Amino acid sequence: MPEAGQIVVTGGSRGIGAAIVSQLHDAGHAVVSLSRSGQAPVGTALACDVSDAKALATAFAEIAEAGPITGFVANAGLHLKGPTKSFAAADYDQVLDLNAKAVFLGAQAAYPHLKAAGGGRIVTLGSFFDRLGVPQNLAYCASKAAVAAMVRCLAVEWAADGITAVNVAPGYIETDLNKDWLAKPKVRAWLESRIPVGRAGRAEEVGELVTLLMTGELRFLTGETIYLDGAQGVNH
Ligand code: NDP
Repeated sequence: MPEAGQIVVTGGSRGIGAAIVSQLHDAGHAVVSLSRSGQAPVGTALACDVSDAKALATAFAEIAEAGPITGFVANAGLHLKGPTKSFAAADYDQVLDLNAKAVFLGAQAAYPHLKAAGGGRIVTLGSFFDRLGVPQNLAYCASKAAVAAMVRCLAVEWAADGITAVNVAPGYIETDLNKDWLAKPKVRAWLESRIPVGRAGRAEEVGELVTLLMTGELRFLTGETIYLDGAQGVNH
């Protein structure tokens, strides 16, 4: 096991990423957040478009100057929806570029640093939509299924370097983006009937799981997708 080094989190400026950054920080980790705005609730924050391979390499090199990197959380993501028959190809590309390709590019940028540290952990943010058929969500579902597949490949290919990879796949999580929608009585009633736990998840709950994966040993756990959805995805 490598000494605990810095953990790089993409999309740490708000939503689930900000909760992950806060929880990792509270657990004593040195956290660096990458986002276009360069904001973060705590820790170090750098402005970086994570869909740009060069920008990623530059950011990782700068972070490595401060010490070893032993964790990478690929959280930045985008949700665009619309009827498949008229969904714009440009929108499809935008979703796949950030949700899937940027995960690949981020893992690639992290790899030499994790390897140099003697190993490390990659955690990706997928979605329980990765195994569901969801109307008007073809691009998003495809992007999240791709992430789960990438994690299986990373786990197998980089195990010999001491690098493990786990995909965390949340269900509905209340964030600033969907708070108003989730507060609508009709939506709330539908969610309560569909989610056996009876409510949407909280960003902090995703942060807790990511922190556990980064803090705990759990090194035999790799290549898997963990669903964090209150059992909605397995509900008949
Ligand atoms: P938000 O839209 O609230 O946050 C997205 C984050 O990504 C922001 O910090 C944003 O920062 C950053 N980001 C967007 N584009 C880029 C880019 N090109 N380069 C760098 N950073 C970027 O999303 P959520 O917190 O809701 O979602 C986080 C992850 O969790 C996503 O992968 C999402 O698919 C997944 N997820 C979310 C669920 C939910 O219910 N909310 C459910 C299941 C999965 P900035 O604008 O500053 O760049």
